[in-house]
Amino acid sequence: MSAEDEFRPAEQLAQQLKDRIRSEGPLPVSVFMAEALLDPMAGFYATKDPLSAGGDFITAPEISQMFGELVGLWAAEVWGQMGAPDPVRLIEVGPGTGRMMSDVLRAARAAPGFLDAASLHLVEASAALKMVQGRTLASAPLQARWESGLEKIAAGPSIILGNEFLDCLPIRQAVRHNGVWRERVVGLSPQDTGRFIFGLGPHLSEVDINEIAPTLRDAEDGTLVELRLSDATVIDQIAQRFKTHPGYALFIDYGSDAPEAGDTLQALKAHQKVEPLDAPGTADLTAWVDFDRIARLARNAGLDVYGISHQGDFLKGLGVEARAAALARTQDEAGQAKIARQLHRLTAPEEMGTLFKVIALCSPGLPPAPGLDAF
Ligand code: SAH
Repeated sequence: MSAEDEFRPAEQLAQQLKDRIRSEGPLPVSVFMAEALLDPMAGFYATKDPLSAGGDFITAPEISQMFGELVGLWAAEVWGQMGAPDPVRLIEVGPGTGRMMSDVLRAARAAPGFLDAASLHLVEASAALKMVQGRTLASAPLQARWESGLEKIAAGPSIILGNEFLDCLPIRQAVRHNGVWRERVVGLSPQDTGRFIFGLGPHLSEVDINEIAPTLRDAEDGTLVELRLSDATVIDQIAQRFKTHPGYALFIDYGSDAPEAGDTLQALKAHQKVEPLDAPGTADLTAWVDFDRIARLARNAGLDVYGISHQGDFLKGLGVEARAAALARTQDEAGQAKIARQLHRLTAPEEMGTLFKVIALCSPGLPPAPGLDAF
């Protein structure tokens, strides 16, 4: 028997969740999602690097260096717009393999003084990915420090970047049933075969109902809505920072730009969609980001909001086509074809171009975020 056979974290995690359901009753979707992603021993992010070649999914910075480079130019530009503060904290939430940040830092060299003024802070929950980030950034011009949350980073001027971070924050779901909203929960099949199944839990409180977009609050029976309460925490932390010191934040993710009903919880394993409740810890669980909600939360918190733009338009506005042409000039025919494919994946409407959205938040009164219109 190999060591791997003896230690099966995913099975242990499933067992742990089953025991918990048997003693506490069905769990809100958010609890299941948080455990499946972040359990320190067996959570999906905690245990492996899902972004590696042959991993579970691929993100824009892993597709092409052009993505991080343009984000780096964006960061350098907003630093100038803030009045070139020194020191400035350059923060990334959910940095994955560290690839985007390494491209950001290379491109940011173009802005004289920016990297001299900057310190680098990575907010990462996964021990395994922290190690990968450390390796990727080993020879980067700035030395990374890891933090467990935005609130841990000392106050001061800051630039916050997050690609595909908001989509993995745990969501709750609610279903309209007989004219009332009920929490969607995860329980065990009645035969107790050990399969996780969805069910209806307690009525939503008035406070929770107020989190549902007004246009959906009186929806017909059977409607499913998602409550992204963690978004409010993130926006609140950013607002606290940006109220006392200048700052810009940039978030790129997949999602909708208007409130919509429907179940968007999805699980990806080895690039294939799988059932979200099967084998917690072995697949990535994400849900569509509600950009309209992010924009409204940020504005209510006193921030200026730019976007919501499509990733394709945003990258083109920042000059991705010129960058691709410059890179292609150094390549042979095969290299040029590869760059053309990367550009297509990042920007074409049928690829990531329109599904992925971009939003920027900043301290009130700062100049407009580059490449984005006022919300
Ligand atoms: N930005 C990277 C990775 C996206 S995957 C890219 O575009 O390739 C999501 C990242 O967020 C991973 O690094 C994951 O470990 C991290 N993450 C997920 N939930 C988190 C949380 N609650 N706090 C901090 N990091 C989190």
